[in-house]
Amino acid sequence: MTKIRTRIAPSPTGFLHLGTARTALFCWAYARHFGGEFILRIEDTDVERSTQQAVEQIIAAMAWLDLGYDAGPYYQMQRLARYREVIAQMLAAGSAYRCYCTPAELDAMRQAQRERGDKPRYDGRWRPEPGKTLPPPPAGVPAVLRFRNPSHGSVSWDDLVKGPITISNDELDDLVIARPATDGQDIGVPTYNFCVVVDDLDMAISHVIRGDDHVNNTPRQINILNALLPLMPGHALPRYGHVPMILGADGDKLSKRHGAVSVTQYRDDGYLPEAMLNYLARLGWSHGNDELFSREQLVQWFDGQHLARSPAQWDIAKLDWVNAQAIKAADNARLAGLVAGHLARQGIAADADPALAARCALFKDRCATLVELADWLLPYYAAPAAEPTALAGALTDPVRAALPTLLERLAEVGWDKAGVAEAIKATLLAHGLKMPQLALPLRLVLTGRAQTPSIDAVVALFDLATVRRRLGAVL
Ligand code: GLU
Repeated sequence: MTKIRTRIAPSPTGFLHLGTARTALFCWAYARHFGGEFILRIEDTDVERSTQQAVEQIIAAMAWLDLGYDAGPYYQMQRLARYREVIAQMLAAGSAYRCYCTPAELDAMRQAQRERGDKPRYDGRWRPEPGKTLPPPPAGVPAVLRFRNPSHGSVSWDDLVKGPITISNDELDDLVIARPATDGQDIGVPTYNFCVVVDDLDMAISHVIRGDDHVNNTPRQINILNALLPLMPGHALPRYGHVPMILGADGDKLSKRHGAVSVTQYRDDGYLPEAMLNYLARLGWSHGNDELFSREQLVQWFDGQHLARSPAQWDIAKLDWVNAQAIKAADNARLAGLVAGHLARQGIAADADPALAARCALFKDRCATLVELADWLLPYYAAPAAEPTALAGALTDPVRAALPTLLERLAEVGWDKAGVAEAIKATLLAHGLKMPQLALPLRLVLTGRAQTPSIDAVVALFDLATVRRRLGAVL
């Protein structure tokens, strides 16, 4: 059996989009499942729009999701010599040719076709044919290179996701495979469809899994591949699988309009990478009714089956639910490290605080994100501001009278949940109060909130001095 090799090939023209991350995840899981290799390739031939910053963001997002690659990152702009070498071979073999049409000529060609009611396409005027005499190359017009697409027959492939697809060659015109040469080279910068093909062959990619926005490119790429195979013995066509797009709630392709679409934004918004991975995997793939699973289970299950043919819908409420489960299950010391980063953004240095992990443990089961968790922990580091009327309503005279007793009792007991519970109980007894009468003002004064986990646990995670100070301030 051939070795499974998959690749993710983002163009560094922006951050890593959720859709690309999902494709990367599928490619990664597929390779891991079959003990193969996963490759990162940066498709940066669109030099105007590609940036180093985008490359760094893509790499950071892959690292955050822990989608480790076995080879790369490869950069297409570092492979120009290789592409030019292949183009030279194609020129010699007759599968590529120079076209000297100016942009104005191409516009006029398309305009005339439209007026005749034809589909606009390159009319083959520089395409060599047996018995055809080509005009002499015009002076001063840099040539582009075109692929000599087969003029008859059709292209077929058995798509991993969509099943068998056949496209007639009539539908495909002679694609530009290299832009006009501008830098004194004989051949300009090659185009996406060409570089992809050379790379997929050179990198021995066995499976191209990508978004179905590329499905129109596939027949063109297969034709180029077939032209290259005789020049590159020992290579084989990859198999293709096109996964449907991710849509927003309104049915349009997921975009900024629907909220954040950059993977790293979700990291910054307090999502855990394992939750993101889990949620992304379920967008367009399923394993029975399983909603929550680990990376290991994903790898074990992801065999290229059960990929949905219809588009998946982005559902932030579901992501929040998956994230909440992941936060609940996460190790407290790890959460402490992550939450410290979010607290730091609010100017609070909690990273060295030994109490942080226990505080995470108390609040983590009520948070959809780490940002929410950080908000819960904030009162441990900065005095909260309770809503004044709520506070005034809760601080009744009998309660005010009881607070000094509570402070005295707290100073006597062991400083843990049980000790705090004991002090509260003794205070209630001494002042004839009911639990909620004392618990509510304590919650409001200490945390700024009317609802918290059990009050003894909340109090025990403060230190006595802070409790004294805050209660003292309202006495
Ligand atoms: N560079 C292409 C993109 O970012 C992906 C190409 C491919 O997967 O074949 O959409």
